[in-house]
Amino acid sequence: MAQNANEALLYAVENGCLDGVKAALKAGADIDYAEDDIDSTGSGLLLASINGDVEMVRLLIHMGASVSKKTGAGISCAPLHGAAGNGHTEVVELLVHHGATLDTRDAYQRTPLMAAILFGHVNTVRQLIEFGARVDLADRRGRTAQEYCMADVVGEDCGCVRRELMKLVQQAIKTKMLRCCNPTCGKAGRRSTLKLCAQCKLTRYCSRDCQKQHWTVGHKKSCRQDTCTVTDAEVRKILKTIQSTAGEV
Ligand SMILES: [Zn+2]
Ligand SMILES: [Zn+2]
Repeated sequence: MAQNANEALLYAVENGCLDGVKAALKAGADIDYAEDDIDSTGSGLLLASINGDVEMVRLLIHMGASVSKKTGAGISCAPLHGAAGNGHTEVVELLVHHGATLDTRDAYQRTPLMAAILFGHVNTVRQLIEFGARVDLADRRGRTAQEYCMADVVGEDCGCVRRELMKLVQQAIKTKMLRCCNPTCGKAGRRSTLKLCAQCKLTRYCSRDCQKQHWTVGHKKSCRQDTCTVTDAEVRKILKTIQSTAGEV
């Protein structure tokens, strides 16, 4: 019965049926359910984020869906990857304001920023950078946001998109490298002045109040799931390389 409800939940999400989702949850569906077979589309929230279904995302978050759970066969990505990779700025904003970690990683260590660059979503890239997404992180193959800008943009072969993306990333490298991760604050600051979350080592804050606020708004749930696997030494090395190449293109 519960399994039927789970399947009904995903079916309703896929078809944008809000009442169907409510009914499935009433029937005992697990709101974060995702199939674990090879064709799995991921959790309901990931699916709704990919589809850019703002009302569905709002409902699922309201009903308690995890904004940080990583699902989807092979890729294992967070809802923020799904929204960013498809250029859904309104969903990105909702997820971030409900505590989604900006620099959460998928199975390839890609951040949502990299996903947005890969698919050529200029507005989403601008938005993520304004929220404070880090441009100094590298994926599993060592590629940074800047290198993603240099690769061919998926589904878009006009050079101007790539140039626009590169401009945004290089500006971020040069000027506002880091921001307070409390989305309602977002104050720019230096690496040395923003305090790092001691647990996940991924989020930074300008003050104790901002840290507390972000914790209650949802970082409490995301923190453990998004623990940083990259060491500080690795980050320093990547930073050095991208700073030396910034401004070349
Ligand atoms: Zn702040
Ligand atoms: Zn944390």
